[in-house]
Amino acid sequence: LINFPYRHVLVLGLAKSGSAAAKLLLQNGKYVRVNDKNTSQTDDDARELMVLGAEVITGSHPLSVLDDIEIIVKNPGIPYEMPLLEEALRRKIPIITEVELAGNLSTSDMIGITGSNGKTTTTTLTAEMLNESQKPAKIAGNIGYAATEIVQSLEKDERMVLELSSFQLLGVQTFKPRIAVLLNIFEAHLDYHKTFENYKNAKCNIFINQTEDDFLIYNADNTTVSEAVKEAKSAKVPFSLKKSVTNGAWTDDTSVYFKNEKLIEKKNIVLPGAHNLENILAAICAAKLSGVSNQAIFNVLTTFKGVHHRLQFVTSVNGRLFYNDSKATNVLATQKALSSFKQPIVLIAGGLDRGNVFDDLKPYMENVKGAVLIGETQAKLTRAAREAGVSVIETAESMKDAVEKAYHLSDVDDVVLLSPACASWDQYSTFEQRGDMFIQAVHTLL
Ligand code: ADP
Repeated sequence: LINFPYRHVLVLGLAKSGSAAAKLLLQNGKYVRVNDKNTSQTDDDARELMVLGAEVITGSHPLSVLDDIEIIVKNPGIPYEMPLLEEALRRKIPIITEVELAGNLSTSDMIGITGSNGKTTTTTLTAEMLNESQKPAKIAGNIGYAATEIVQSLEKDERMVLELSSFQLLGVQTFKPRIAVLLNIFEAHLDYHKTFENYKNAKCNIFINQTEDDFLIYNADNTTVSEAVKEAKSAKVPFSLKKSVTNGAWTDDTSVYFKNEKLIEKKNIVLPGAHNLENILAAICAAKLSGVSNQAIFNVLTTFKGVHHRLQFVTSVNGRLFYNDSKATNVLATQKALSSFKQPIVLIAGGLDRGNVFDDLKPYMENVKGAVLIGETQAKLTRAAREAGVSVIETAESMKDAVEKAYHLSDVDDVVLLSPACASWDQYSTFEQRGDMFIQAVHTLL
């Protein structure tokens, strides 16, 4: 392993990324001890690791698991405030995350993308642009595969585009992407990070080890971000929806530019929403810095329909445009979705009741001509829609029923939007399953 002089490694947490890290270390001849609070000795993963030669200790975190250990690879979800890690710090055992391990191993260019929102969309767009331009790239990190799962399978010159959460970036020691993207920083995950300052610092770890030869793409419209990047040594590449930034990507009323080149007219971009335009600008910067052609960028932006379940265009049925935004599990996300369209909208919303209030949705319902409400929050949302002046409000018991009712409330050129503003667990096991049921129901209309 390049940049990995350790022999005895403790992998803490046996989730997907922990298993991938342990396997990679075993393949490279390291002594690996795996420790997980859950008694998962019978799990396939644990068994497989044991067969490969790992020592697996589950059920608790005895301090003895630290004996002889030179470095810890920690699952991002495990907080630092636990006796085992406090003891590790006392013993001066370095603690890294799985992404950093992958970074230590990688010889190919890494593009790291973080932010409070828009990570998956920007990561996907960037990889699409690279691949469209015959520059092979693989996506990993917080999306799809664990970074250690793919790092050894990268072809020569193949890039890794990494979606990075604040959890993965916390505790970074040497991790250094060639191109870093900082999309935005909003208040989030304060239960884990305790303070906004901690959360911001975790995000900023994406550029902390960068040097003058590396690039930092950042959102010039987000004050927290543009203040934070001042300390970076990297070459800075801004993007902005509000001003022409001649060393980065920007927009005016009609078009999108990189530096002083016009790339595309906004009306030709398929992906809706101002928030997505930010993600597009960030992806354009990463693509241009990687040598992607303008034609490839154009091709992606005129065809990319959105990431699954995130304001994803499904299809049109008799002139009605169906969008699946099942990932919108809170009011803020549904506000974004509703502001993304100028056409009249028939909204399908509702889900798990966490004691939420929906008053903040009302100002965004101007274009909502009809609403079909589902799930536990049906009554609350009915009240909000009525107070917002939505003229036709119905309820539905199943997604199929909801889609049929929404179709009947819609006219040619309307948008039918699933953007629930609630988690899915009252009726579905995941938001993905909810979105898939929506897509299925839409296709039965055809
Ligand atoms: P993440 O991977 O960071 O969760 P996604 O790309 O999956 O982000 O988008 C999730 C939701 O976040 C979207 O449905 C939208 O509501 C919101 N969102 C996406 N991009 C942005 C952005 N640039 N600024 C603000 N909100 C955004």
